[in-house]
Amino acid sequence: MTERQPLAVTTTGGWARPGWWDLLEEAEHAGRFGPEDERELYDDYCRLAISDQESCGLDVVTDGEHRRRGWIESMTAALPGLKQRPGPRRLGALGMDMLDVWEVTQPLDGLEWIWDFEGEYRFLREHTSRRPRVGIPGPYGMTTELDFAAVYPNRKACAEAFVPAVRSHIQNLLEAGCDYIQIEEPITPGVAEDDRTPGAMVELINKVIDGFAGCTFTVHICFGSFRRLPYAKRTYRWLFPRLLDANVHGFSLEFGAREMAEIDLVGQWDRGRILSAGLIDIKTHYAETPADIIERVRVCEKYRQLDELEISTDCGLRRVPRNLAIRKMTAAAAAAREVRGE
Ligand SMILES: [Zn+2]
Repeated sequence: MTERQPLAVTTTGGWARPGWWDLLEEAEHAGRFGPEDERELYDDYCRLAISDQESCGLDVVTDGEHRRRGWIESMTAALPGLKQRPGPRRLGALGMDMLDVWEVTQPLDGLEWIWDFEGEYRFLREHTSRRPRVGIPGPYGMTTELDFAAVYPNRKACAEAFVPAVRSHIQNLLEAGCDYIQIEEPITPGVAEDDRTPGAMVELINKVIDGFAGCTFTVHICFGSFRRLPYAKRTYRWLFPRLLDANVHGFSLEFGAREMAEIDLVGQWDRGRILSAGLIDIKTHYAETPADIIERVRVCEKYRQLDELEISTDCGLRRVPRNLAIRKMTAAAAAAREVRGE
């Protein structure tokens, strides 16, 4: 496994999109791109995201997750046997009820493939000299937009159906040389009751990574971001200490938007467990300064050593204006350099 950089700076989720993305998306929807044009377009989006992260001074980079076009939407849409139902509300203030719902009409247990995570990793590794990391949705994450009631008795049963496919992607990523994977398990009851328990989350996380070695695994747990609005109750207290039974190397959690609330929970963790600390608030137009971030790092340092700490974002930057994302992450890298005494 790669030596861990103390206070490595990274992001979680997707990178910020350039403004002109919208123009190209219009052209794409109008059918003006051939398959080769599409491939080139998304390669270029990812090259730009990687280059942005490197220019900001990030230590651990992703491909920007631009090929996914949303956190989970593309993957959900590609699942077999789903029936799309438009969100019940189209007008007025932004709300979760504006999202399309995907009804599960057949068991998903035979599923072997979710997304080309391996292709994303290979492209990333070829285009960066920094440490590459790939994020993949966890079993609960995969249920976010599903109305599973016709096939599964509860969310856990539906989530469990995704375990073999997630495992097979991890196996392929490891074979391709990937040594850092973040499993994304936001508390996101997009549709239907969210009856998950910390014990059920632990059970499925452990099933997903059982037997895999030579790779750092972290789990990202956030409160969702639908057009930068959270949609779950913003507390981690109910998850700990039970979640520490997950055999992962660390957790990526939101603290920036919550002004470091509940950071004391990290005090329960055993030595060596990584906190990929969300110190950058993606839900504000305010650009954190290096001093702001150093102040937050000092709070984390009460509970974790620098080699157990990463500076990250609360959640993905996909909906953050690119110039703002660049200012935030440049400040984060400057803060890390100062704390490291470089
Ligand atoms: Zn998130």
